[in-house]
Amino acid sequence: MTISESSSLSRRTLLRGAAVAGAAAATATVVRPGAASAQPVAAPALDVQAAAERAATIPTPEKYFGFRIGSDGNLATWDKMVPYFKLIADSSNRVLFEEVGKTTEGNPYILLTISSPNNLAKLDQLIEINSRLADPRGLSPTEAEKLASTGKPFYMVYAGIHSTEVGNSQATIEWAYRLATEHSDYMDSILDDLIILMVPCQNPDGLVKVNDYFVKTAGTNYSRTYPDLYQKYCGHDDNRDWFMLTQVESHLAAQIQNKYHPQVLQDSHQAGSGAPRMFTPPYLSPYDPNIDPITVQQTDVLGLAMQRGMTAAGMKGAGWGMTYDYWTPSRQYCVYHNAVRILTEAASVTNLAYPFVSTRPIGNQESSISFIEPYDRTTWTLRQIVDYVGQCFYSGIEAVAYDKFNWLYNFYRVGVKGANRTGAYIIAAGQRDPQAVKDTLDILFRGAVEIHQAQAAFTAGGKQYPTGSYVIFLNQPYGGFAKTLLEKQNYPHLLQYPGGPPQRPYDVTAQTLPMMLGFTADLVTDSISVSTKLLTEIKPPQITMPTPPSPTGAYVIGPESYGVYRIISRLQKQGIATFRAGAQFTDGARTFPAGTFIVPPTDAARQILQDQARDTGIPVSALSAVPPVAGAQLKAGTKIGLLKPANNIQSGWLMFMFDQYEVDYKIVEANDYDNLSGRFDAIVMPHGVSRNSIVNGLNRNNYPQEWSWAFGVGEDGWNKLRNFVTSGGTLIAFGSGSNTAQQLFELPIESILPSEETVFYCPGSLLSQEIDANDPVGYGMNPKNPVWFDGDRAYRLIDPNKYPVKVVAKYPDSGEQLQSGWLIGGEHLNGAVNGLSWTVGSGYLVTFGSEIAFRTWNRGEGKMVFNAMYHGPSQKLTSEQFQRLGR
Ligand SMILES: [Zn+2]
Repeated sequence: MTISESSSLSRRTLLRGAAVAGAAAATATVVRPGAASAQPVAAPALDVQAAAERAATIPTPEKYFGFRIGSDGNLATWDKMVPYFKLIADSSNRVLFEEVGKTTEGNPYILLTISSPNNLAKLDQLIEINSRLADPRGLSPTEAEKLASTGKPFYMVYAGIHSTEVGNSQATIEWAYRLATEHSDYMDSILDDLIILMVPCQNPDGLVKVNDYFVKTAGTNYSRTYPDLYQKYCGHDDNRDWFMLTQVESHLAAQIQNKYHPQVLQDSHQAGSGAPRMFTPPYLSPYDPNIDPITVQQTDVLGLAMQRGMTAAGMKGAGWGMTYDYWTPSRQYCVYHNAVRILTEAASVTNLAYPFVSTRPIGNQESSISFIEPYDRTTWTLRQIVDYVGQCFYSGIEAVAYDKFNWLYNFYRVGVKGANRTGAYIIAAGQRDPQAVKDTLDILFRGAVEIHQAQAAFTAGGKQYPTGSYVIFLNQPYGGFAKTLLEKQNYPHLLQYPGGPPQRPYDVTAQTLPMMLGFTADLVTDSISVSTKLLTEIKPPQITMPTPPSPTGAYVIGPESYGVYRIISRLQKQGIATFRAGAQFTDGARTFPAGTFIVPPTDAARQILQDQARDTGIPVSALSAVPPVAGAQLKAGTKIGLLKPANNIQSGWLMFMFDQYEVDYKIVEANDYDNLSGRFDAIVMPHGVSRNSIVNGLNRNNYPQEWSWAFGVGEDGWNKLRNFVTSGGTLIAFGSGSNTAQQLFELPIESILPSEETVFYCPGSLLSQEIDANDPVGYGMNPKNPVWFDGDRAYRLIDPNKYPVKVVAKYPDSGEQLQSGWLIGGEHLNGAVNGLSWTVGSGYLVTFGSEIAFRTWNRGEGKMVFNAMYHGPSQKLTSEQFQRLGR
């Protein structure tokens, strides 16, 4: 255990991969139970032989699961994997097992901490060293050097965030077994110099859904692939959640990173069958400039170590520098926390676990510097996925263990650079949407960003800020995380060749929270002189409830905050009458905008408003008399339907949004089409709902009866959906859903955007918009609220007389259309129509060409979905009726 660095290097290299029996330094088995804060208890080293013998009793994966991992047609399931990992930890002195928490659907989310017994015995101390290097404020270079010499890098790896990419989670079974049982100089030397944080499955719910379904359908004629979202709400988008941090699994992974400060995060995926057999970094351009250049270089070094490992092992068809870039934080939390993100993408096989067979050698056959050896065989198997990703993993841990000083010292250097950033973001107190500010602070807080609150009013950058304003100084370790989320993105103008089409970003190009949620954050570069307090929790601003109004008066809540919709849901649930003013009104010196919510002054209403005001910071006022304006009364118990084709991600995100806001909704199932009007007042048709998904739906020949809710409803159902609207129902369609609505009603609109990407291109950016805040759909909106646009539609109204129609939202007639991200040919948007409200028969239809509820990111806009779905079914009142509150 005390071999010198130089002599061990050559021995390690020689012994690479060889399983040499030998004794490990021993402590008793350490199993870490329960909460994340629980620390392992190490017993003194006693019996080396006993420890080795105990490890030798661990059944091999093949023996335990009854098949070789990765063999054709076989997948291990989570109910057997978890006990196996526990068994390994129970029998090995190198492995700690911890259930870090429960998933969205209550499955165990587990972490294996794997290292030498000596390291595990002093794990606290090693975590402490790592934390100190992660936040080097006050640490001298000499001290840092000493810590980097005595510390050990932490290498986090997770698999299976995408559940149909099955090979990676299967591979972790073998890794855990080998790391626990192999006694060789090679393994000992790695485990002496590295702590591995292994999350065998980042999305256990999905592993349960996909692998159990695969097992269940064996021997049937049904499709073997689970047909719906494999994460309850966001399906495949679960790896687009790394900055909004909306899902439980994202919280758990961030929690691990915040605690251990890993230097590496390996994120294991699969791509299509025709893709390179394995992708690793280096990535394509661009990288987010908020990622430190050292982190980018370390990423390249580690990715190439994996490429070298595969080539040396004779694994052909691996490549780098293609398809994937290093831009959006939606795909990477770790890089803003100074760890490299190593994406591995193995090619997939057929039906999850059966060989992919081609008549020719698979994939690109042209060799290049980033794709050295094309794959020369005609089959590709699950076992090969396990082998390739295993090679990447072992090459990765080897490379970091052998070069541990550089990994730790460079990690420290990145921290020092972070701590020397300049400037601060100020989020003024008293903004129009307290929920938007609270959500932002929650995200930053979860991301380990330090948030200060001003203890007095102050002036900075020539602007005055009230007491209680939030200050985020950027000279802190994770200031880059705050900066990338608060600033405007300037995505580089990257073309495939001069004058050619754009080089597509792998995902979206913008993440500016102030624009998406609806608040302002100011970058200040002067020094800020005000006393501030570091927040240890995020609380909404304190709200003082007004004196109860007289029986002829009312309570009032403004329409500006999207958080108000949780209040509306509670009022709906309690059957409390709720009204909206149809125009701006005044009460004494106060002015209230159109769409202000008005609630009768009952005790029950007061209780709900008081509780909600406390939780959200949304102010409540009282009126002595109801204003003389026309308005509407929300329908008591408004019944919302959500169109959710199987595996439609945007519908899943809508479910999440509705659950967050406690909306009483139901998925529109195939058998609901018999009585849509009886079951729903308003139906929401998000992006991804098409005529095909409604008419044909899931193919009933390929899926058992349990999926009948998603089967197609035919032309008959299509017509019934139309009748639902024309006979008085409400339909809200957005993104590609607007296209579907256009087909359903032959709407007189025409998409005006050029289809050639050289002429017009917008891959997930924020664009200028003019919104009519006096229209019921636009109530409470900032009239200049940017909209999210991701390859969407913009329209021209070709016949304004076919149906009564109003323009709710449009692109400005001239000027800059881009607010944040990337846009080519913005002038084609000039004057284009986006949001329209239509009267169709006796029904109400709202269409938006853009995605006004994208992954729940653009919550400021998402308010328009709520506005529309409650407005359509509401009862319209004259000013006389309104003054009597509809009585
Ligand atoms: Zn994936």
